[in-house]
Amino acid sequence: MLIQENISLKSLNSFGCNANASHFCIIKRKDELNDAISWCKHQQKPFLILGGGSNILFTKDFDGLVIKIDIKGIELVKETPSDIIINVGAGENWHLLVKYCVQKSWGGIENLSLIPGTVGAAPIQNIGAYGVEAKDCITQITAYDTQLNQWVTILNKECQFGYRTSLFKQEKNRYIITEVQFSLQKQPTLHTDYGAIRDVLHRKQIKQPSIEAISDAVIEIRTEKLPDPTKLGNAGSFFKNPTVSIEVFDALKAAYPNIIAFPISNTEYKLAAGWLIEQTGWKGKRNGAVGCYEKQALVIVNYAEATGIEIYNFSEEIIQSVLDKFGIQLEREVNVV
Ligand SMILES: Cc1cc2nc3c(=O)[nH]c(=O)nc-3n(C[C@H](O)[C@H](O)[C@H](O)COP(=O)(O)OP(=O)(O)OC[C@H]3O[C@@H](n4cnc5c(N)ncnc54)[C@H](O)[C@@H]3O)c2cc1C
Repeated sequence: MLIQENISLKSLNSFGCNANASHFCIIKRKDELNDAISWCKHQQKPFLILGGGSNILFTKDFDGLVIKIDIKGIELVKETPSDIIINVGAGENWHLLVKYCVQKSWGGIENLSLIPGTVGAAPIQNIGAYGVEAKDCITQITAYDTQLNQWVTILNKECQFGYRTSLFKQEKNRYIITEVQFSLQKQPTLHTDYGAIRDVLHRKQIKQPSIEAISDAVIEIRTEKLPDPTKLGNAGSFFKNPTVSIEVFDALKAAYPNIIAFPISNTEYKLAAGWLIEQTGWKGKRNGAVGCYEKQALVIVNYAEATGIEIYNFSEEIIQSVLDKFGIQLEREVNVV
């Protein structure tokens, strides 16, 4: 394992922000990870795990070891007449995994097509889109526990998965994920309830969609709606959709009858953060090189050479506007370093 010094992270994060790592290494095998952690302990340096850099905002240089996980491999663990269990290296590209499964007609993650990043990062914030979350198919995770200094297997029920959160996000930097195990179905239940997916299928006159048709529909919708990070720096949704009590929702609904929200339990509602941001006039607004994307207010974009600090400050202004107008505190989905 080679440890390089003073490496630019600009091409390694989807915002395209410039930041330097004092030390940097790429991990292709599990045993190399042990060496990297030992190095950090010996040198008394912190570490930062990096996948595809599509959910991270660098606001400063990192004085420590940035460990880029590049462990590859898709291994068939078990096949039954109805199910497939696969073990996937954390460094595999998420969308390529989805494509691989769709091609084999293994259903379960097709609604998560075109989400950038690596397989190892998928459990961190329990990636989700169009009515499906990674947790629905993850059975277990192999990780290095840097607190106990040992390899651990963590079962789905122990991962504390929730909306854009998990054990791994709550106990930041404790677990380094090296493999994720998925259970996929040969005759899956398809998730076509989202209006946008239904619209595409209807337009294409597809009455009995295959998982491939659903994946294609999701790709089409996302390509139209979201900026391509290779052309316009961004990290997808910058903010989470806030959860509020039914009392707060009722008060907001009375004041703003058009508010977009949906119930998530008998006592709570989830508000569409994009709607809140749009109502405060930020959608399509630009300040220097940073802007709020014109087609989706949840996305902050880097039009040119914005620094991480500029993007962070822009997000602060949005948070303040939403707080002032609605009394709702937005939370960032993106990991700020
Ligand atoms: C255009 C666009 C669209 C997006 N759409 C969605 C969407 O629909 N739904 C959604 O949920 N997300 C979405 N995202 C966010 C992002 O794609 C996901 O969060 C993705 O899982 C990040 O993967 P990554 O490998 O790039 O992680 P990184 O950005 O590299 O890392 C994210 C966090 O996870 C940690 N981490 C990464 N790998 C590991 C590992 N192996 N072990 C331990 N910790 C690790 C990092 O330290 C960091 O804190 C979108 C992003 C973009 C740019």
